[in-house]
Amino acid sequence: MESQGKSVSLRQRAQERGWTRKKFLELSGLAALAALVTQAANAATTAVPQPKRRKRYGMVIDLQRCVACRACTVACKQENKTPPGIFYTYVSETEVGQFPSVRRINIPAPCFHCDNPPCVPACPIQATWKRKEDGIVVVDYEQCQGLGFCVPACPYGKRFMDDGQNYHEQPNEFDRTPSPECNENRVRRPDESPIGKVRKCTFCLHRQDEQGNYASLPACVLTCMGKAIHFGDLNDPASAVRRLLKTRKWMRLKEEAGTKPNVYYLT
Ligand code: SF4
Ligand code: SF4
Repeated sequence: MESQGKSVSLRQRAQERGWTRKKFLELSGLAALAALVTQAANAATTAVPQPKRRKRYGMVIDLQRCVACRACTVACKQENKTPPGIFYTYVSETEVGQFPSVRRINIPAPCFHCDNPPCVPACPIQATWKRKEDGIVVVDYEQCQGLGFCVPACPYGKRFMDDGQNYHEQPNEFDRTPSPECNENRVRRPDESPIGKVRKCTFCLHRQDEQGNYASLPACVLTCMGKAIHFGDLNDPASAVRRLLKTRKWMRLKEEAGTKPNVYYLT
């Protein structure tokens, strides 16, 4: 209390004499302290930028909410313009338990963008890899030679050979519309990539902005009428996906394969 009183009277005297704030600080012996504080503030604003935290994009899918409408499958087709036989995300239906306690569950499954993806080392020419910045597993459609070793290497059946089929005998608007995959905007033409190459889900990475954040969520997530699919950065402790994993019971498919998939299922 004593020092507070002294400080007030010093300030009053300074005001009476019309001193500037700088003069007041000098005379009250606080100048050195103010300089230190300013220095510290400047140091904080000019601090060396921290290395960017790597993202690990993944999905948390609520099995209690999926109604097997397959809007996600259709939205993905519409988004990526995938031809017949290629489904980046697919919903399988299965029954669990024993009669009379049987329950049907619907399992939507995109590529799991595994942390330890066996599809990547299966490629002898490194045409597929896991991106360092966000963990998304991609294929370079120019580099890929269509050897197809990665297709059986995936224990989840999430890689597909594009054998050139179309939905229509005469290509229509769907067939001629460029696919935004990997921001390449390719139109699918006979004997050109990606025909003859291996294709897969990219977590709609073309929806990322320049900072690698999603300006708009992957097509399957946005379209899900049951709000069953949650998407986000699993490395971000504040993300909704991390919160869900903390509060609900979950499982991952084929854990025994050691792939460490980044798609979790809430049971
Ligand atoms: Fe590779 Fe299959 Fe894992 Fe996707 S789900 S990263 S294709 S092993
Ligand atoms: Fe299930 Fe949603 Fe896909 Fe419909 S859109 S099948 S509710 S995950």
